[in-house]
Amino acid sequence: MTAQQLYKRYMAAFNEWITHSTGCTCTAEAPCETGVPLFERLSRLQAAWTHHLTQQQRR
Ligand SMILES: [Zn+2]
Repeated sequence: MTAQQLYKRYMAAFNEWITHSTGCTCTAEAPCETGVPLFERLSRLQAAWTHHLTQQQRR
């Protein structure tokens, strides 16, 4: 996966989570049943993106 693809997926997951949590009572600390997989995906992509940025800085 390229950095651009990763970033796109990260942003898509972020928007999905924001869209859901805006119309829902769930929060990052206590997501609802629907929110859990969305938030987990966002967390994973966020970690991958942060890792990518860290790798770039070391170069
Ligand atoms: Zn929810």
